[in-house]
Amino acid sequence: MTLVIDCHGHYTTAPEPHNAWREAQKAAFKAGEAPPPYPAISDDAIRETIENNQLRLIRERGADHTIFSPRASAMAHHVGDQQVSEAWARACNDLVARVALLYPETFTGVCMLPQSPAADLSASIAELRRCVVELGFVGCNLNPDPGGGHFRHPPLTDAYWFPIYEAMCELDVPAMIHVSGSCNPGLHATGAFYIAADTIAFMQLLEGDLFARFPKLRFIIPHGGGAVPYHWGRYRGLADMLGKPALDGHLMNNVFFDTCVYHQPGVNLLAEVIGSKNILFGSEMVGAVRGIDPTTGHYFDDTRRYVDALAIDEAERHAIFEGNARRVFPRLDAKLKAQGL
Ligand SMILES: [Zn+2]
Repeated sequence: MTLVIDCHGHYTTAPEPHNAWREAQKAAFKAGEAPPPYPAISDDAIRETIENNQLRLIRERGADHTIFSPRASAMAHHVGDQQVSEAWARACNDLVARVALLYPETFTGVCMLPQSPAADLSASIAELRRCVVELGFVGCNLNPDPGGGHFRHPPLTDAYWFPIYEAMCELDVPAMIHVSGSCNPGLHATGAFYIAADTIAFMQLLEGDLFARFPKLRFIIPHGGGAVPYHWGRYRGLADMLGKPALDGHLMNNVFFDTCVYHQPGVNLLAEVIGSKNILFGSEMVGAVRGIDPTTGHYFDDTRRYVDALAIDEAERHAIFEGNARRVFPRLDAKLKAQGL
């Protein structure tokens, strides 16, 4: 039997008082005032938002477990300052922790980090530790562009990022490279910014030597790896031109892609080009694309059916659905084993 583990889910349906508090927090920052206290949110309010949305779809679509993080587009690290980001990240992560506590067999938390454009990563490291050690989270979402669409941060291979990589290696947790909302009017958040950032992240890793320094570090590049699989020949050729080792050894023991590309030919290409060793099943639902594909009659983000339809053997399918997620998220593996799975 294969467990279907979805490595990419966000709490996009969080209870309204949570979102209202964020608006109040932003307004208070603008006015130079302290934010209001965070509202009380009942377990029932959380259950309602989960059971009518993610849990219903997980059951309908035949997934078993979702690695669940706060809504990515709302991380908005470019808003406010370090303190604002810290309070927001803590509120979002605590809410995800409550979902994982209410549904331990279905959800496991991954945290957002309180990144802030002008800050170093010490607050992010502290929040990562809190989430992993105290809340049982198994990974984090790392924003390579906390400025929100201007790409002013140093590349992911720069020493700026090393302290959080050291913490990730020590805690044995991976990061999904995930940008947030765009404040650049030329970059649509989910259609342009996300896919561009995924592609840029891969090229930064290619140009550097990060995994020689951090051999245990693991990244998931979401949304199918951006444009990378489609342009695989370009990246292999660039590695050659830049005098880098072949991508297999240079990057592909440490970098993984999810299946959030939302159509069959795209997932076919992903499986053919990248191969099952580096693919984790993901849906990003309820998320970026919520409609029904008129050519198939199925939801675009019903990604399990694309993987089911791949012409691969059962060992490869098992790797994509379950095995790779257990390997990349050892703390999830331990949690599932403790549940007898
Ligand atoms: Zn996402």
